[in-house]
Amino acid sequence: MYIWIIFIAVAIASFAIQASLNSKFKKYSKIPVGLTGREVAYKMLQANGITDVKVISTPGQLTDHYNPTNKTVNLSEGVYNSANVAAAAVAAHECGHAVQHAHAYAPLKMRSSLVPVVNFASKWMQWLLLAGIIFVESFPYLLLAGIILFATTTLFSFITLPVEIDASRRALAWLSNAGITNYSTQGPARDALKTAAYTYVIAALGSLASLIYYIMIFTGRRN
Ligand SMILES: [Zn+2]
Repeated sequence: MYIWIIFIAVAIASFAIQASLNSKFKKYSKIPVGLTGREVAYKMLQANGITDVKVISTPGQLTDHYNPTNKTVNLSEGVYNSANVAAAAVAAHECGHAVQHAHAYAPLKMRSSLVPVVNFASKWMQWLLLAGIIFVESFPYLLLAGIILFATTTLFSFITLPVEIDASRRALAWLSNAGITNYSTQGPARDALKTAAYTYVIAALGSLASLIYYIMIFTGRRN
């Protein structure tokens, strides 16, 4: 079945991108810039007229994110305290989300409104899909319910793509305009964020492949 070839391809691509992301971040963490991640973040927020967003340090690696509910840019310790291209790119990217939030960027609004639905779906879909596959002959609507919940998470992973790409676009434009990066460091910053974006693309494709697989089980049942 073709679907298995797609699953294997997605798994290999996902592994390769993750490895590439780790090695690129390691490499670009050695290229210094003038400001730490924290300083880059505050400067970019200020440049965009955003004064009500806090920049805080969060434990772990690659845990960087923007939290719209309490308006905080959360930077991992390595990004928060370090003055290198990788840290600057990540900090600016997270501020890109804060700028999207401030400008009511439509895909971000759509993504945020899906969060409670996705939280509900994530809680129940595994059980519904499992039970649904076991009882597909006798009670197919269990699987259908699981598929509907799973589809919301697939939709969410696709809506994430424009949100992520736009945040990186805003970050790179600002880094260059503000003089944080120059002709030799802009390329690495772009490369780091582009590789990070690929992880979201492959996650979305993986989710779509799984969705198709469940639909195939549902439509392939004996009637
Ligand atoms: Zn992001």
